[in-house]
Amino acid sequence: MTQSYRITLLPGDGIGPEIMAVAVDVMKVIGRQLDISWEFSEALIGGAAIDATGAPLPDETLEKCRVSDAVLLAAIGGYKWDNLPRHQRPETGLLGLRAGLGLFANLRPATILPQLIDASSLKREVVEGVDIMVVRELTGGIYFGQPKGVFTTETGQKRGVNTMAYTEAEIDRIARVAFETARKRGGKVCSVDKANVLEVSQLWRDRLIEVAADYPNVELSHLYVDNAAMQLLRAPKQFDTIVTGNLFGDILSDAAAMLTGSIGMLPSASLGDSGPGVFEPVHGSAPDIAGQDKANPLAQVLSVAMMLRYGLNQATAADRIEQAVLRVLDQGDRTGDIMSEGMNLLGCQAMGEALIKALANV
Ligand code: NAD
Repeated sequence: MTQSYRITLLPGDGIGPEIMAVAVDVMKVIGRQLDISWEFSEALIGGAAIDATGAPLPDETLEKCRVSDAVLLAAIGGYKWDNLPRHQRPETGLLGLRAGLGLFANLRPATILPQLIDASSLKREVVEGVDIMVVRELTGGIYFGQPKGVFTTETGQKRGVNTMAYTEAEIDRIARVAFETARKRGGKVCSVDKANVLEVSQLWRDRLIEVAADYPNVELSHLYVDNAAMQLLRAPKQFDTIVTGNLFGDILSDAAAMLTGSIGMLPSASLGDSGPGVFEPVHGSAPDIAGQDKANPLAQVLSVAMMLRYGLNQATAADRIEQAVLRVLDQGDRTGDIMSEGMNLLGCQAMGEALIKALANV
């Protein structure tokens, strides 16, 4: 039976429309192959939305996203909008989208592809085979806890305050996302906290242990964040799924991503309790190469694979897309950002065409 999905496409700015076009072509092909039908609806976000409507996230865009099954976002931002007041900046549109859809879980994979292993700054034997998923809590913790602000003390000194706070419910729901994610991967969750010093982390750890009882087939371990940072660089292969709070996750997901060495290859997913998730590359809108057919579309295409796996439960389609990406890399096809000696240099469109051919053969 044909499965039908409503997908909101948010191409955004810079290289966004170029890489989105490749992703849509790939989705059409995989749809025909696996009897999936797509109902696409395009909407404005970021600088493109500011130019057209004055706001980085028009109400109409959020409404379209809310009633869809998943949202595929490319990238937002650019020099032109860098000096606008904060509420009119492209990034404000992205934050508004996350808040508006209640996206509290951010999933960022760091997978070393054998073909790009030399792009990593670490030794081949350390990174070979690395396949990590960082699950970061996105809407709580120290970035949102109250009180926050800069206050003046009785002695007239300024004092800056932020508060790291998590409720049981906030911890339990991100824990469940991590256990569910691990079930679709290597079956191991490492929870990262600072329970030796922070009370909020002790609660985090206690809740992780409690929720783990519902997932007997997933192995749970714990690391303090300082040790986790060290282990990520020393022996990253020990990790499968890492779950952590907003601040620690912000830092560790960037560190894990850099193990792979190639920003044009990294997808991400942001998920809520129910309703559509947002799937997007980790990189920005690359205004320096926009409109030149130089962008690497693979992170966008791998975001489609994440959408299929984590948003729409279509693992076979996700596998096929990931295999097609490996195949084009195997045959030596590269965009400029991942180019090395002896490989075939392709533009964004040609890389898309190579992917479509590869999809026919996986
Ligand atoms: P960037 O990720 O856009 O670019 C950094 C470097 O990586 C540039 O040299 C760029 O050419 C290159 N690059 C990035 N993606 C690439 C791809 N797919 N293929 C080939 N090369 C690629 O980061 P930046 O330059 O710091 O930011 C540019 C704009 O993007 C800013 O306005 C920033 O606010 C915005 N931004 C948006 C997001 C998002 O949409 N989620 C994330 C980060 C930055």
